[in-house]
Amino acid sequence: MTWVALFFKVYPMKIIKSIDLMKKITLQAKRAGRVIGFVPTMGCLHPGHLSLVKYARKRCDLLVVSIFVNPIQFGPKEDFRKYPRDMKRDKKLLSSLDVDVLFVPKAAELLPAGFVSYVEVPGLSKKLCGRSRPGHFRGVTTIVAKLINIVAPDIAFFGKKDFQQLVIIKKMVADLNMGIGIVGLPTVREPDGLAMSSRNIYLDSDERASATVLYRSLRLARKLVREGARDSRRVIKAKRQLITSQRPKVQIDYIEVCDPETLEEKTKIKGKTLIALAAYVGDARLIDNMFIRV
Ligand code: AMP
Repeated sequence: MTWVALFFKVYPMKIIKSIDLMKKITLQAKRAGRVIGFVPTMGCLHPGHLSLVKYARKRCDLLVVSIFVNPIQFGPKEDFRKYPRDMKRDKKLLSSLDVDVLFVPKAAELLPAGFVSYVEVPGLSKKLCGRSRPGHFRGVTTIVAKLINIVAPDIAFFGKKDFQQLVIIKKMVADLNMGIGIVGLPTVREPDGLAMSSRNIYLDSDERASATVLYRSLRLARKLVREGARDSRRVIKAKRQLITSQRPKVQIDYIEVCDPETLEEKTKIKGKTLIALAAYVGDARLIDNMFIRV
């Protein structure tokens, strides 16, 4: 029995903070021919995250989940400090799902003083959320690339709720020959349709009720398209009208109809189409999207 195998026999879910130790564990697993699956998160886990973990669990031998609230993906006026954190609860949840390793790197080790190298996917990163969150995707790709280098997974799992992030990560992995599989999984929603998000915690009860308008607007768009609407402007206008009925609680950041691979705006709805939106509900900036095939 290798020391890693022994390690896991004694401690079912290992919590690893050190980058070096994390590398050693996955290197040994690789040598033993084990398939490594990886789910990166920022913690404060909800059923959306857990759906990725459950799906990944069935598809790999060694399952690594990371929790790292990534400071470089938040803008100076964004919610890094108050972003919800609940490590105790997260540990319990992950352990109950049979996760092998919880990787919790320290910011000081992952982003030490003097750190200057970034990974950027220009173009895609400037669209949709990139317009109102300059630098956000550069922060995401840099940290995801570093985590992939450390964990060295065979497959990494991401949610389609953050559709733009998924498209950008796929591009980064292809462009940089990272040689791993990226799997995108469906958005998990509350019973009333609101996409689950760690930021939903910010909503008071009125805001929470108003926030359902985001998913309702996506369903409206799908209904209009099913009824024959092909003009993006018409569909966006109808969505806008529905969402503004919830003003001032809900303020639209953007609503866009675009190509799901290039994220280029589409004036006509045909073929594979993504309808994406972002809105402020109270202090929370929420995003959602729907994939439509005509
Ligand atoms: P986060 O902790 O917000 O960085 O999210 C970690 C991963 O969970 C990302 O791949 C997200 O896309 C995914 N995720 C977040 N919310 C959901 C959801 N409601 N349904 C499915 N996946 C989600």
